[in-house]
Amino acid sequence: MKLIIHRGTKEIGGNCVELSTENTRVVIDLGMPLVDARGEPFDSRELEDKSIPELVDERLLPNVPGLYAGEDKTVDAVLLSHSHQDHYGLFRYINPEIPVYMTEGAQALINASDLFIPTKANIQKPIVFEKRKSLTIGDFTVAPRLVDHSAFDAVAFLIEGKDKKIFYSGDFRCSGRKRKLFEHMINHPVKDIDYLLLEGSMLGRVEGPYPNEESVEQKLESTFKNKQNIAFVFCSSQNIDRIVSIYKAAKHTGQTIVIDLYTAYILDSLKCISRRLPQYFWRDIRVIYFKYHAKTLADNDLLNFLYKCNKNKIEKVDVNRDRKNIVMITRDNYDFTKILDNIDNASGVKAIYSMWEGYLEKSGLEEKLRQREIQLERVHTSGHATKQDLKRFVEAMKPGCLIPIHTFYPQDYQGLFFDTPVRQLEDGEMLVLK
Ligand SMILES: [Zn+2]
Repeated sequence: MKLIIHRGTKEIGGNCVELSTENTRVVIDLGMPLVDARGEPFDSRELEDKSIPELVDERLLPNVPGLYAGEDKTVDAVLLSHSHQDHYGLFRYINPEIPVYMTEGAQALINASDLFIPTKANIQKPIVFEKRKSLTIGDFTVAPRLVDHSAFDAVAFLIEGKDKKIFYSGDFRCSGRKRKLFEHMINHPVKDIDYLLLEGSMLGRVEGPYPNEESVEQKLESTFKNKQNIAFVFCSSQNIDRIVSIYKAAKHTGQTIVIDLYTAYILDSLKCISRRLPQYFWRDIRVIYFKYHAKTLADNDLLNFLYKCNKNKIEKVDVNRDRKNIVMITRDNYDFTKILDNIDNASGVKAIYSMWEGYLEKSGLEEKLRQREIQLERVHTSGHATKQDLKRFVEAMKPGCLIPIHTFYPQDYQGLFFDTPVRQLEDGEMLVLK
């Protein structure tokens, strides 16, 4: 059996892994890079107007023969660990004949995103795998394992074939609403793992003041309590754990949550998977309409959804009028600026940044708020396991060999996991698994 990490041996983002035997080739994830060759934030416009051979030549697409549209198909399957762009952002280039395996939640989120973003994944042959069931792909047996992560329905993969066991951690943590999954994995570790491909996002990052989702919820609750004006919470609509935290904190303090149509649609897409997720028709939720979202839904034959949301629609003028009792989930964009400008009096407005800070630096959001004398407060916990939790994980799993992936600090693995042999690979290097 052979392993190639096509991308991700020394960076976060752009993950792409290949496992192969003489008969079978499986690719796991094909993500959008977060950084370019110079270490600057990756600009996805670089991909525009280029053919697949050009993209491969320029190393914007990993060189995986037989994976892409227009080539002879020699890859048997693609597996997706979770619905974050740094893991599926380049799926639109995959040969439409190749089946793409994912969880129900990942599929729902990708389908919902595809409506609203110009760079659609456009997966032609999706296959939803049943949780807790293994599947056979040629020489491989693949067992998806649900993990706790900021992406809903994220999985790790245990892959067996030719007497070798490989565990691909995907992205995971032990601080979210599904942390029991982590504890369960530690208490019932997979035995005899030969190679553990382990994410290390938190290596080199400082752990913030909020260690878990509960501490975020508590902080939000104390912020919402006795507030005198609107509270804006900047958050990804796909970070479902966080949406639940905001909802609970707002509910406990008697606040109404305002979400946009996009967020309402995302949550609606997941209602068959979890009935406990907040929905647009709940009593303490209102939906605000922005032109782009409404047009997108209408253009995609979703007028019915628009009509249903109408019952809980809130007008901008009412957001201003009821601002003292409103928590609004938002993102830094044109529509947010309009809403902010529409607020009569900015005194006492709360602004909470509840996502990864990497997005904040170049956004100009803090300056925009500062001009209105609003201070941006950061309340966030990471989607990734801390160094301490990674250690607990490795100590429990006892792999024969550890392979760094999804990290900017692969050279730090051996120092951190000193009891376990670490094999640091280069992007594109082939390792024969013995
Ligand atoms: Zn990732």
